[in-house]
Amino acid sequence: MNSAQIRQAFLDYFEQQQHSVIASSPLVPGNDPTLLFTNAGMVQFKDVFLGTDKRNYSRATTSQRCVRAGGKHNDLENVGYTARHHTFFEMLGNFSFGDYFKREAIQFAWEFLTSDAWMGLPVEKLSVTVYQEDDEAYDIWANEIGVPTERIIRIGDKGGRYNSDNFWAMGDTGPCGPCTEIFYDHGPEIWGGPPGTPEEDGDRFIEIWNIVFMQFVRSADGSMAPLPKPSVDTGMGLERIAAVLQGVHSNYEIDLFQNLIKAVVKATQTQDLESKSLQVVADHIRSCAFLVVDGVLPSNEGRGYVLRRIMRRAIRHGNKLGATGPFFHTLVDALVKEMGEAYPELKQKQAQVEQVLLKEEQQFAKTLEQGMRILEQDIAELSGTEIPGSTVFKLYDTYGFPVDLTADIARERELSLDMEGFEAAMNEQRERARAAGQFSVDYNEALSLDVESCFEGYESLQGQAQPV
Ligand code: ATP
Ligand code: MG
Ligand code: MG
Ligand code: MG
Repeated sequence: MNSAQIRQAFLDYFEQQQHSVIASSPLVPGNDPTLLFTNAGMVQFKDVFLGTDKRNYSRATTSQRCVRAGGKHNDLENVGYTARHHTFFEMLGNFSFGDYFKREAIQFAWEFLTSDAWMGLPVEKLSVTVYQEDDEAYDIWANEIGVPTERIIRIGDKGGRYNSDNFWAMGDTGPCGPCTEIFYDHGPEIWGGPPGTPEEDGDRFIEIWNIVFMQFVRSADGSMAPLPKPSVDTGMGLERIAAVLQGVHSNYEIDLFQNLIKAVVKATQTQDLESKSLQVVADHIRSCAFLVVDGVLPSNEGRGYVLRRIMRRAIRHGNKLGATGPFFHTLVDALVKEMGEAYPELKQKQAQVEQVLLKEEQQFAKTLEQGMRILEQDIAELSGTEIPGSTVFKLYDTYGFPVDLTADIARERELSLDMEGFEAAMNEQRERARAAGQFSVDYNEALSLDVESCFEGYESLQGQAQPV
């Protein structure tokens, strides 16, 4: 089954279970100015869960475009390193607004994944987690579904063992509740362990589906009361389930990515077909193109700066592959072939997206080469393994290298960045700007100050809304 068929099968299955099929909402959330980008299927339904928005359906299903490249959920640095993370991905979801609860949610997920009429996955490859105190979910898995108890794992709260936690909350107050997750075992030849073990962050056991039971409402004093109408919010990564169904381990080996990677090879003329940079560029063209479709433009602040950071990272990886001129915008065509049918807005805005990407490429090309030369020189002269803050600052300030771009290069060479030195150089510049401000206004300085304050804003505001 190709990705398009899997997406359709998911929506068909839930439509048969009386869910309304709802279109993906844009990446810029319309109902939540505190959230950087739509990063889960539930985002467009936040107010429905809160009860402040009413719909004429109580069951919905979507394939939601998501970006996780900043704020609370940031997978930018995972791209090129893990088999399962993208900056842009599609989250398949089913939602119950005070309608069905744990039993049906678990039954639906299991039937869709394992029934031969649907995905037909071998049950012995699947394991599940529940929240440590959620005996109700445990019993459904063990006694009604019949999952062997050695493959049902109880997981606690944040700050418990290892990284995983199984209690979800919309924010510090408001709806919250336990999760249950479904993992697929890609086999012993891949490094990693089941959830709840020290090796859980490996790529052997991959989380494919996360089901949230909104069961309580938390008040400001921390006390929890049962929600009058418990709800369900689920999310399954389309690319992850596609990898499982297509018998490949990495998301980057699925049909859609193989075609995009072919386009990257052609556009950069690279001979190195094993390079991780191929994955980075193929991933980034999706987030960049869809962000432009949804109205974000590269800029020096807020959402626009996140887009600029992703683009500049992609352009640098393209250059590493051997591209000598603007190449990134030419990939939009391949993307439209893969996704234009499911997302007609992409097809409609193709020319505009290409133009925006090309302009950014041209602008960055001027300084990328010079900046890289300076960085190479400074690295060659390094005595330790830390790139000085003054270099990081110079690249940022004069050559348009976002700090995470320099960090990305450093990581490839097993070097670190002197962030304290970078902060000090930033502060010095702020002081200079303030002093200069007594005499005249320097708009360039003002702009870089804006970038700073804006970012602190987003990071701190992010805490208010957490997706799945
Ligand atoms: P992981 O633990 O693997 O980082 P997650 O717990 O952060 O995943 P959720 O927030 O639970 O993910 O999102 C629901 C589902 O969306 C996941 O089970 C997974 O299938 C998919 N998903 C999450 N993040 C990504 C990503 N960056 N790229 C691709 N798919 C993702
Ligand atoms: Mg994650
Ligand atoms: Mg997880
Ligand atoms: Mg999860």
